[in-house]
Amino acid sequence: MEDWHETFDVVVIGSGFAGLAAAIEARESGASVIVLDKMKAPGGNSVISDGGIAAAGTALQKKYGFDDSPELMYEDMMKAGMGLNYPELVREVAERSNEIFQWSIDYLGVEYMDRVDHFGGHSVHRCYTAANRTGATIINRQVEKAKEIGVEIRLGVCLRSFVLDPEGNVAGVCMLDGYDYRDPTRGSDLFIKANRAVILATGGFGSDIPFRTSQDPRLTERIDTTNKPFATAEALKETLRIGATPVHLSHIQLGPWASPDEKGFGVGPVFSDYVVFLYGVVVDPATGKRFINELSDRKTLSDALLKIGHPCIGIADSRAVDSQGWDLGPGLKKGVIKKFDRIEDLAAAYGVPADELKATVERYNSYVEDGTDREFGREVLPDASPIVQPPYFGMRLWPKVHFTMGGVQINIRAQVINLDQEPVKGLFAAGEVTGGVHGACRLGSCAITECLVFGRIAGRNAAGESPVDSLKAPT
Ligand SMILES: Cc1cc2nc3c(=O)[nH]c(=O)nc-3n(C[C@H](O)[C@H](O)[C@H](O)COP(=O)(O)OP(=O)(O)OC[C@H]3O[C@@H](n4cnc5c(N)ncnc54)[C@H](O)[C@@H]3O)c2cc1C
Repeated sequence: MEDWHETFDVVVIGSGFAGLAAAIEARESGASVIVLDKMKAPGGNSVISDGGIAAAGTALQKKYGFDDSPELMYEDMMKAGMGLNYPELVREVAERSNEIFQWSIDYLGVEYMDRVDHFGGHSVHRCYTAANRTGATIINRQVEKAKEIGVEIRLGVCLRSFVLDPEGNVAGVCMLDGYDYRDPTRGSDLFIKANRAVILATGGFGSDIPFRTSQDPRLTERIDTTNKPFATAEALKETLRIGATPVHLSHIQLGPWASPDEKGFGVGPVFSDYVVFLYGVVVDPATGKRFINELSDRKTLSDALLKIGHPCIGIADSRAVDSQGWDLGPGLKKGVIKKFDRIEDLAAAYGVPADELKATVERYNSYVEDGTDREFGREVLPDASPIVQPPYFGMRLWPKVHFTMGGVQINIRAQVINLDQEPVKGLFAAGEVTGGVHGACRLGSCAITECLVFGRIAGRNAAGESPVDSLKAPT
């Protein structure tokens, strides 16, 4: 290829958590770096995320008296992933989780809320929430840092194809310059050479209905998604075309905390995920009964909801809501979350048999008193209390496509692996476009950890440094 328009040492495709972490690290390692993104604003799905990050053995956990270790985090991730996870990738994420969380604070300057949360499938409190409960808090700091150190971020350029040298190594990319997702025919070819490597960080394909149904035929347009509309698979497909090994593409995560009464991620999950699953109950409106350990991982919960076949009801009382300190105002205003003075009123509003529901709540309350959920084995958290304090809150629950566990195979150096199990020379990848870290099911808050850990590893190695020994902040 002779007619390159531009040349950089490292070319990063995608400006979410993973791409920006990679770009920053490559630049800090001495490379010239450009980040290319097809959209008009940086941040991908990362910017609309909840900003929840998981890490084991942190100072915040110590402050609140929660015992944890990377080994326990590794075990939890492997268990939720049903053992399909690539152990060496999981280990990398778990062992570097504290380091990356601290890096985001010390190096990027990200602020987190002074709390540690517990999500389904984690065996301890180990999830931290960026200030304002949004990934934008982290993305904004990443964008600022990237620009400050001399990374160029160029928007409206979409990956068309990789350019290979005669040996089949990735030498650069062909981009569609002037891309507009409303009219993908617009734009012109732009060839950018990567002196050292290209890093793929193009996120998941939750909004790509043809591609996701080719992997899981249940996930038609009838199932909504929490993802932005541009979370599509074209870059992943290009990578498969040059011989990358696909991993776990049919393992697509549904978010069990979503509401059918609003579009996208919405404002309901702050109630369902942060309150109901820990301190409330989920009942089938047809029977008024619980049917699952509400603190299960996302796959277990979503599969149980799909098996029931209709939206179920999450319920918690005001003591649980108040203890968690989240603002339910937007959800109440939108009517996604509803408030009732009596359990009977809640039952009537959602068409639940009132006597059955009252019996369910009483049974659950007795489990809280005894410290043992004799029906579903849910852990009774030390600060759990019986559901007795009005007003009572309710929300309908129905899963939405949320995360794609599958993607291209990488090794612990973040090199893309081909069908012969060799690294594709000149190509690294990180974040949701890769597969193997989460196996059959990702635990909540582990995506941000993964994106930052493997983003930095990809950036450091792409810049041509020797294999990463430590990811400590550059001084
Ligand atoms: C609503 C929501 C809430 C979430 N909350 C959390 C949470 O609290 N904690 C957690 O751990 N995880 C959460 N997740 C998951 C997590 O946010 C994502 O897995 C993560 O942000 C993915 O980051 P990424 O860098 O891999 O991709 P993204 O952030 O999606 O970035 C990919 C970028 O690549 C660009 N791109 C794609 N294709 C091309 C192409 N062909 N050419 C050029 N550019 C391209 C896109 O425009 C995009 O900007 C959430 C997800 C959603 C949708």
